Amino acid sequence: MSQTLTVKVKLLPTKEQIQLLKQSSSEYIKVINTLIAEMVEEKKSTKKTTKGVFANLPSAVKNQAIKDAKSVFSTKVKKSKYAIIPILKKPVCVWNNQNYSFDFTHISIPFMVEGKSNRVKIRALLIDKNNRNFDLLKHKLGTLRVTKNSGKWVAQISVTIPTTEKTGTRILGVDLGLKVPAVAITDDEKVCFFGNGRENKYIKRKFRSVRKKLGKKKKVNAIRNLNDKEQRWMKDKDHKVSREIVHFAVENKISVIRLEQLTNIRQTTRTSRKNEKNLHTWSFYRLSTFIAYKANLVGIKVEYVNPAYTSQTCPKCSERNKAQDRQYKCQCGFEKHRDIVGAMNIRYATVVDGNSQSA
Ligand SMILES: [Zn+2]
Repeated sequence: MSQTLTVKVKLLPTKEQIQLLKQSSSEYIKVINTLIAEMVEEKKSTKKTTKGVFANLPSAVKNQAIKDAKSVFSTKVKKSKYAIIPILKKPVCVWNNQNYSFDFTHISIPFMVEGKSNRVKIRALLIDKNNRNFDLLKHKLGTLRVTKNSGKWVAQISVTIPTTEKTGTRILGVDLGLKVPAVAITDDEKVCFFGNGRENKYIKRKFRSVRKKLGKKKKVNAIRNLNDKEQRWMKDKDHKVSREIVHFAVENKISVIRLEQLTNIRQTTRTSRKNEKNLHTWSFYRLSTFIAYKANLVGIKVEYVNPAYTSQTCPKCSERNKAQDRQYKCQCGFEKHRDIVGAMNIRYATVVDGNSQSA
């Protein structure tokens, strides 16, 4: 088991280095676009090697471009039966792990300078909140991808982290919700509540009212900034809750976390985040991805279960009841705080095939 992550590094190139980055990245996407067009024409993968590819790039970089083009051809073009033929526009250049080095202050990469491959050291700034990236970079580094994001050059270093899957059978059921962002229950009935739904609701309402005022004054930029701020705030909350859940799981020697499989994710991406329900599905989706990602890092498996009736079914006798107030009651005598019932059922519900969210 292993997991691949990307660490972002800000680049601070000199004027000359910016020219090199511009030149190399435009050459790089040109090679890829040309090769893809050729492969589409011939309806088969290319057999070209670096000798057959003419570009002002070090041969290792050319090699990487051939590899990338082949992979795009097989995973996108062929898979879509030639319906999708991607054309790269955004400047990008990729170096494999044998061709660059990073010492936390500089990235050293080869460029073509006057017809020769030459190593150039570019000042790099590791954006690191809680030393997480610093720790990640101690693992084996993968490819280095340099690109331009909102006018700034950034490096994306892929890192592969080995994880050892936990053995054992202890399961944690986790139910996500609005009133209580997350409820977890272990095999031995240990319950834990995460996050603060009331506070979230209050803050969201505050954002909404400021947005309304700005809307009346038609302050478009201010609204955009406010939306970004709200997104960041929600993301931080999800990071915190997911971190706490995984911590709770580790403390309780859990080997499997079970979450509800979310449906209709496809329709709820960026384009249709308008209605409340879609927004909620979207935020549950993000929290559940964060949980899965953090759990995998510590070797805890995440399984997705069928969400049908998880809040209505009696965990003791399987009868379906609708909770009338804060307390869930069943004729069989079972009685529990309604927010816990979902997690109890998720814990032992049917696991959905594929074991991943259908994003
Ligand atoms: Zn019952």
